[in-house]
Amino acid sequence: MTGLLAVHAHPDDETLSTGALLATWAAAGRPVTLVTCTRGERGEVIGAELAPLEGDGPALAAHRTGELAGALSALGVRDHVFLDRLVGVTGPVEDSGMEWLDVGRAGPSSDRSQNAFVDVPVDVAARAVAELVLDRRPDVVVGYEPGGGYGHPDHVHAHRVMQRAVELAAAAGHRVPAVLWAALPEDDLRSGYRVVAEAPWDGMAAPDPDGPLPSAAVPAEQVDVEVDVEPVLDRLLAAFDAHPTQIQAVRRLPHPGTVAGLALSNAVLQPVLARECYRFAPGRPPGDVRWPAGVSARAARR
Ligand SMILES: [Zn+2]
Repeated sequence: MTGLLAVHAHPDDETLSTGALLATWAAAGRPVTLVTCTRGERGEVIGAELAPLEGDGPALAAHRTGELAGALSALGVRDHVFLDRLVGVTGPVEDSGMEWLDVGRAGPSSDRSQNAFVDVPVDVAARAVAELVLDRRPDVVVGYEPGGGYGHPDHVHAHRVMQRAVELAAAAGHRVPAVLWAALPEDDLRSGYRVVAEAPWDGMAAPDPDGPLPSAAVPAEQVDVEVDVEPVLDRLLAAFDAHPTQIQAVRRLPHPGTVAGLALSNAVLQPVLARECYRFAPGRPPGDVRWPAGVSARAARR
């Protein structure tokens, strides 16, 4: 069976950046494994009702663990593990928080805990993930590009851990045929910004369609793998709704390129594109993968 293994930093990232892929894979009856590196205990919290959780690390960790379970149930993913269970450390591996160090450059919080994920050496975390890869033997491993999607230090670290884990697993006997980096095609993304900016809802702000793009954005010709979101949109929307501390204003949209919109704690709308896109990790020609219906990959360019 062609398995998929995803590596993510916090609860909600599995849904926000790879939700359609996970749901499509699971709906095809194929194995999906998710590693979540932290419980997101430094995250901002949306809404007055849940606001007391913000700043209370253990309480927010417990709450977001429950949200993640709900999202995975919606996506159909049953095999989930937190990184600290793999590493075997005492105490949780924690969210490192994020501070803007400079325009467009983020770093971990200066007051992060001593168990912060960014302080777990890449090789220590990667060895643990590599063991899981050797056990599950996935055909596809998926995560972020080197910028971590938008620069959060836990995402950047998760990228490094994933890449190193794949190397270690290959050295130990399982070469993962395809490593995917989540990507956003620039033109689709700007079109999506325009769609949600046309008539903002629920008091959310509109994004600037001509503003800077996140690090995951790439020219369309760099996209290697596409997932058709519509067939799994109900599952995806249910998974968004399972993360109410992190995701708000989820709305389905009657637009061919932008099938929904939502906002995070910054209360700025963002589009959910009709195609969830990925790049093959560069310099690593993909091997044979039997992609499930709804996922299309173009032949390797290298
Ligand atoms: Zn995250």
